[in-house]
Amino acid sequence: MKFLYKKKIYVTLMIAALLMLTACGTSAGKDEKKSDEGKLSIVVTNSILEDMVNQVGGKHVDVHSLVPIAQDPHEHEPLPADTAKTSKAELIFYNGLNLETGNGWFTKLLDSTQQKDKEDKVTFAVSKGIDPIHLESKGQENEQDPHAWLSIQNGIKYIQNIEKTLSEKDPDNRADYEKNAAAYISKLEVVDKKAKKQMSDIPKDKAILITSEGAFKYFTQAYGLRAEYIWEINSENEGTPDQLTRIVDLAKDLKLPSLFVETSVNDKSMKTLSQETGVPIHDGKLFTDSLANKGEPGDTYLSMMEWNIKQIHDGLSK
Ligand SMILES: [Zn+2]
Repeated sequence: MKFLYKKKIYVTLMIAALLMLTACGTSAGKDEKKSDEGKLSIVVTNSILEDMVNQVGGKHVDVHSLVPIAQDPHEHEPLPADTAKTSKAELIFYNGLNLETGNGWFTKLLDSTQQKDKEDKVTFAVSKGIDPIHLESKGQENEQDPHAWLSIQNGIKYIQNIEKTLSEKDPDNRADYEKNAAAYISKLEVVDKKAKKQMSDIPKDKAILITSEGAFKYFTQAYGLRAEYIWEINSENEGTPDQLTRIVDLAKDLKLPSLFVETSVNDKSMKTLSQETGVPIHDGKLFTDSLANKGEPGDTYLSMMEWNIKQIHDGLSK
């Protein structure tokens, strides 16, 4: 707490110093200040939502992602900067569908920043209106699988939800939000159509996707494949001996050309599965719960989906 308090004073002083600098600045500096003031301050839970909100919001939004790139949004420990930004946020977008629930980090963060109980006022689940798929592991059948965005049609619903929320919060810029959303959606429709066509040429007995986490149920439902995994959802139980025995037996039977590993998980269990079965791990890692680093393929939602579709198609067509 003491540290936090000091940090607050420091941040306040920094802001005061910045304001003074801007006040004394040139006319260019003043213009910059004007545009910064007009931006909606938005917090999102992960990098995929960060891209979607930036695509729709464009120059009107200032977006902060809580979970950094390549980290797991199921379980997270927010930093002091996350707390500061969340308490000041005008809008908070999260996935919902049981994604940010792992160690209760998101609920705790909303609680500690006085942003709790503001659903559909400040806090919005972008997955609203999605038809959920449930987990299949014993005892978890009533829990929703969060990875809806891995079907592009669901991703488009996320973008429509974001557009509606931004337009309601900031009606002056509604035309921009509608235009930006329509442009992104039309690009996504092209990739979605292409993926459906492409995946249909994989022989049925090879159209099975084995990943570490069972994140691909929405994806495989959309593109005509079957999803298998070592563990079903990221939690404390990742790659237990029982989980490994099950998937080793299955993978030996299936004789697939490739296994796949995701960027936001530890690849130790997948390496064991590969050694035990002799099935190679495909070179290109898949993006599930995070985008790629800026400047690399997969650094937007559109590009991550294009990348995944290419890797999965190439890996299973060998
Ligand atoms: Zn996940």
